[in-house]
Amino acid sequence: MAEKLGITPALIVPPHLQGQVEAKLAYVDESIAAANIAPDGDRIEVSLHKKLAKSDQLILEEKVQRVVQEMAKGAIQPKVEILEDHMDRPLSYSADPMDELLSSGEVREEHTGIFTFGPLMSRLIEVFEGYFLELADEFNAQPYRFPTLISAEKLGRVQYFQSFPHSLTFATHLREDLDVIADFADHAEYEEAGLNTASDSFSRIQALLSPAVCYHLYFALADKALPGNQLAATAVGNCFRYESNNLTTLERLWNFTMREVIFVGSADYVLENREKARVHMNEVLADIGLAYRVESANDPFFVGEFRRQAAFQNAFQLKYEIRALLPFKEDTLAVGSYNYHQDFFGRNLDITLEDGSAAHTGCVAFGLERIAFAFLAQFGLDPKNWPQAIREAYG
Ligand code: ATP
Ligand code: ZN
Ligand code: MG
Repeated sequence: MAEKLGITPALIVPPHLQGQVEAKLAYVDESIAAANIAPDGDRIEVSLHKKLAKSDQLILEEKVQRVVQEMAKGAIQPKVEILEDHMDRPLSYSADPMDELLSSGEVREEHTGIFTFGPLMSRLIEVFEGYFLELADEFNAQPYRFPTLISAEKLGRVQYFQSFPHSLTFATHLREDLDVIADFADHAEYEEAGLNTASDSFSRIQALLSPAVCYHLYFALADKALPGNQLAATAVGNCFRYESNNLTTLERLWNFTMREVIFVGSADYVLENREKARVHMNEVLADIGLAYRVESANDPFFVGEFRRQAAFQNAFQLKYEIRALLPFKEDTLAVGSYNYHQDFFGRNLDITLEDGSAAHTGCVAFGLERIAFAFLAQFGLDPKNWPQAIREAYG
């Protein structure tokens, strides 16, 4: 039986923030297994992995209060702008596809947040990739290939460590030291909590596992004039976000795949193409029959940055999400986003346009596992019940 702790927050958590505060509470303390905020926002129920001593309970409570304070204080509910609403499309499935995916062996969990996929998911993702490559073609976006590792030095330049520290995944290696390496080889063993290796055996961090695709392009363009004054590119890559207790089923993975179409140039160039991409995808998703809506959103910033950055993104319509319906939980899941970063990367990385100003950037990003998962949640695993367009592309 899990231990529970009821906390009365010093501030009411307004409904529009409850999901985001709940997600952040996962990072508050290692003993937290889950957190639930009552609909009125006046009570937080925390499930614990183990019973805590009174003093540890007080420390945990103080940290929970701090998160609520930092995220909810003075929060103004952003006006959610809905650009498209196609939630009422006819669907053919209403169960949780995870049950069938696991029982058929189509999806296997290798470790929390790490899944392998069989032929059905792989081929379905290829079908979606076909649509995304057509989208990229519309802009004559050039193909790029980016590494899975990403430079710590470069991420620092774009303030990633302040914005999303909680979800980083670090890459390290054993220090170049014969004793350290021999000792590791002799004793390395996986224990319940992880490898038993002392942390001073590992090198300082030079690289991380990439949290997104488009950063690599901006890093490649850093410290010079943008060739041709504008650029459209596309790439697919492995992305990593440590989502702690929020790593559940295929909805939230530690290791997932993102396809991006990326625009670099003037503000008008980026904004016009972002909008063109949305109009194009509107037609594609109609063809597929997906039930979804497109609405304004913000990135999942760390608590310290949350209020300022999230409000800014909402106010300036910097992010729109494609939120697909998950009928089995009567909820939605972001399967893609349309992002505009203004000249943030251009300024911080010194990417300049012909007139000397900083380049603007934007990207259209799709989560491949998520779009396949949402599609299966709406239409099931049997291709006979799929919309014709997908059935034909699937073969
Ligand atoms: P969410 O709001 O669900 O946390 P996000 O706003 O952080 O997602 P983006 O940064 O816009 O996501 O990334 C683009 C897309 O990548 C998302 O729309 C989603 O489809 C996918 N994605 C993001 N995080 C994950 C994850 N942890 N597991 C699987 N797919 C993900
Ligand atoms: Zn991007
Ligand atoms: Mg989001």
